Amino acid sequence: MAARKRTCLLTLRGVFMRDLVSASVEVVPAEPSIAYTEMPKRFTGVSDWIKSSNLLCNWCALTHANTPMFIPLNLTAEGHADVCGHYCMTGCASAHTRKLFPRDQIPDILAAISRVEAMFTGRRRYIVPANPPPTEMRQYCGNTGLTIPQWREKCARLQADYGA
Ligand SMILES: [Zn+2]
Repeated sequence: MAARKRTCLLTLRGVFMRDLVSASVEVVPAEPSIAYTEMPKRFTGVSDWIKSSNLLCNWCALTHANTPMFIPLNLTAEGHADVCGHYCMTGCASAHTRKLFPRDQIPDILAAISRVEAMFTGRRRYIVPANPPPTEMRQYCGNTGLTIPQWREKCARLQADYGA
C-alpha cells in the first residue's frame, strides 16, 4: 500500500486572493547618523569644559546654544566634580536635582551647583532656583501652555529675581 501524500494547501471556501489585506511592510527610514556630543565624565575646570553640545536638556528637553551645564557630584575643594546629566542652564540642573536625588542629599548638591555656576559666571548665589516644569510648555499641555520663548523668558525672570 503506497503512503498517502499529504498536502499543505489550505482551502477556504468563499475567500479569494482579492479579499486578502496586503501584508506589505512599512519601511521605516533609518535614523540619520548624528554624532551626538559626549558629555565629559569629570569636570576639572571652566577652561577645560566643553563649550557647546547638540544634546537635549535633561530637564526641559530643549536644544540650546549655552555652555552645557551638569549636576556636579563629589565636588572637591579644587572644584573638580563628577558630571551627572546635561542641562541647558543651572536652573534646569537645580530643578532636576530636586526630582532625582534623596531629600537629604539635595542641599549639598544644590550648593555644589551654585559653586560651579559661580566658576562659569563669577556670580555667587546662595541657591540656584529651580526652573519651572517643562510641562508648562505647549508641546506638553496644548495651546494654553507657554511657547518655548515664553517658557525661557519665565526661567530668565526667575533666575534674575534670585540675584546674588
Ligand atoms: Zn533646560
